[in-house]
Amino acid sequence: MPIAVDQELCISCGACIDTCPEVFDWNEDDKAHNIVDEVPADMEDQAREAAEGCPTNAITLD
Ligand code: SF4
Repeated sequence: MPIAVDQELCISCGACIDTCPEVFDWNEDDKAHNIVDEVPADMEDQAREAAEGCPTNAITLD
C-alpha cells in the first residue's frame, strides 16, 4: 500500500509516529514523513489508524 505525508499539512503533532513508528518518523524539518514507500501488509491496520488519527488529514493511503 503506497503512503505519503503532505509536508505542508503536517503540524508535527507526533500522533502518527506514536501510532505506527514502523512507518513514520521525524525528518530534518521536524515534520513526520514515511520511512517506507509501501506499507507492509502486517502494518496496514496501524497505518490506516494513523491516517485516520491525523488532525490535518496529511496522510494519504491508497
Ligand atoms: S499525525 Fe499528521 S500532523 Fe501529526 S505528525 Fe503525523 S502527519 Fe503530522
